[in-house]
Amino acid sequence: MRGGFTYLKRSDLTKLNTLLIRRFGIPKRNSEFPDPLSMLIGTILSQNTNDNNSFKAYNNLVMKYPTWDMLAGTKTQEIEKVIRVAGLGNQKAKAIKKVVKYLLNSRGEVSLDYLRDRDNQSVLEELVSLDGVGLKTASCVLLFSLDRNICPVDTHVHRTMNRIGLVKASAPDKTFMAINQVLPEGIGHQLHTNLIKLGRTYCKPSNPLCKSCPVEKICKFEKKTDKEGKIEEKNFMLLDNI
Ligand code: SF4
Repeated sequence: MRGGFTYLKRSDLTKLNTLLIRRFGIPKRNSEFPDPLSMLIGTILSQNTNDNNSFKAYNNLVMKYPTWDMLAGTKTQEIEKVIRVAGLGNQKAKAIKKVVKYLLNSRGEVSLDYLRDRDNQSVLEELVSLDGVGLKTASCVLLFSLDRNICPVDTHVHRTMNRIGLVKASAPDKTFMAINQVLPEGIGHQLHTNLIKLGRTYCKPSNPLCKSCPVEKICKFEKKTDKEGKIEEKNFMLLDNI
């Protein structure tokens, strides 16, 4: 053990990724990557809701405000109405507006394109310094917009990695550090997406379907169940469709 997590090895992640691909395939990616600010806004909208609702909210926002600088002069309540379908409208509208105003005031341009030339650590530090932006959101910008090899950690990725026993971490941010210190080249998107699929289908928060789970043979979860069941796969992933 070191710093709350086990010595996770590169080869552990390669093996896990292979088993997941065997079951779920190689996940499709956007044919074109969106700009980093669009991705940041999409990721803020996706917090604590499902992909379909956040996709509707994102599309509503783009239809109403075709350029992000239009949000700077828009009342928070107006933004909230447009994105209400994603839930937490007030909180998300405030976070989005703050980012837009910060960019306008500090850089004179409502864009995050200046991040393109920076390394991962610098991008993460810059983004998490913004109100309402955490490590998961910042790392999604790196993966889904800037095409960096990184594995963002949401609740699904955190739960599955800890149940499997590859990580012993008390919080998603610690799981993120453990994975990304040893992430093999080129598998960030596959591993992230397929761990979410695993968490949504077999390794659900309660009553995991361990008997039919594709990674059962390497999983060290002490409370494995003998449950199996019909898997309903939801292939739509918001951040690959922005
Ligand atoms: S075997 Fe069970 S606990 Fe382990 S990853 Fe699969 S569903 Fe989750």
